[in-house]
Amino acid sequence: MKKLSLTSKILIGLALGIVVGLILNLFASDILFSRIDTWFFTPLGKIFLNLITMLVVPIVLISITLGVVNLGDTKKLGRIGFKTVVFFMVTTSIAITIGLTLATIIKPGNFGTFNSEDLPPYEVTEAPAVVDTLLNIIPTNPIQAMATGNLLQIIAFSILLGLAINVLGDKAAGIKSLFEQANEVVMWLVHFIIKFAPYGAFGLIASAIGKMGLDAFKAMFGYFIVVVLALFIHLFVTYGSAIAVLGKTSPITFFKNFAPAMSVAFSTSSSNATLPISMDTAQEKLGVPKHISSFVQPLGATINMDGTAIMQGVATVFIAQVFAESLTVMQLVTVVAVAVVASIGTAGVPGVGLILLAMVLGSVGLPVEGIALILGVDRLLDMLRTSVNITGDAACAYIVAKTEGEDMTIPDEK
Ligand code: ASP
Repeated sequence: MKKLSLTSKILIGLALGIVVGLILNLFASDILFSRIDTWFFTPLGKIFLNLITMLVVPIVLISITLGVVNLGDTKKLGRIGFKTVVFFMVTTSIAITIGLTLATIIKPGNFGTFNSEDLPPYEVTEAPAVVDTLLNIIPTNPIQAMATGNLLQIIAFSILLGLAINVLGDKAAGIKSLFEQANEVVMWLVHFIIKFAPYGAFGLIASAIGKMGLDAFKAMFGYFIVVVLALFIHLFVTYGSAIAVLGKTSPITFFKNFAPAMSVAFSTSSSNATLPISMDTAQEKLGVPKHISSFVQPLGATINMDGTAIMQGVATVFIAQVFAESLTVMQLVTVVAVAVVASIGTAGVPGVGLILLAMVLGSVGLPVEGIALILGVDRLLDMLRTSVNITGDAACAYIVAKTEGEDMTIPDEK
């Protein structure tokens, strides 16, 4: 086992989890599965999930502050911020357009028969209003922001804190070295906890697959396939070409090196929880400098969700097809705009895509109950889209660093 790389171990954990989960799903009684799940899979997954989630707030606070301190001139922060936001907006718009286009061409809503009359009731959770989110980016109480894990607020506070330490120079040398040492400590913890990833991935996946209603797939197969297809196109064509053209790097190398983080995102379904590992992977395996990775990736975990945007596009068209409604070009444009803006304020945690979808459907007058049509396969799609979400953040960090002319030597090779 010692010789295997971490990526291979995580992939083995995932594969075993899928096989064991499927076998139990198909052959074990519900009672047997729930016993094994309660006493084995869930604890295994939960311990890992808690361990990595525990590091999210300290990492965001420490690494962003330190990133701004080490940035040198503050003009650079503005430039990096601008490039990042443009990249996020453009790729998210491309993502949702791919989703809308594929669903319009393939027409998944016309496969199979759906009885929209007897849909199970779907409880709508309101997404936060975008204006409120934007205004609330500045926390009135940073401790509360940390206690509630509000990443956007922690980012705003850390940037200001870093700015002050940067400008004060020698006067704040003590606090600067405190942050440098704290950074060493949390990164050590990431490296320590990541060793547990293969077992955590196994537990999370076995539990999720074991619980999955496989019957759901028959009716929703068309929708499922279209989302998966769109996710792959976005991953390999959009990011692949951006990495090749703007990042001047082979996309294969990029994806291969970033794979451990993608597989952790797949098993946790949470961009936020995966953050410590995706930042570490981008820094250690892709050579993205710390000050860029620590700014772009936490921001991306909250405001950039391309995989989620794809699902919004496909689901909207799918639900419209099932309800035999046709969407005008203006409505399609509204879907793109609402999906891009709505994703800004919502955290990258499991299932958030459904909350956003309620907002998107509402904006074009489609019945929100239609969400019940796609619930059955959402858990699995959530895993896939979360992997795409965090890859988009890492691709952005990589490209921004390249265009800034940074030294991208991979630490191991230095
Ligand atoms: N689970 C996704 C994420 O954390 C969000 C979603 O699509 O539900 O990025």
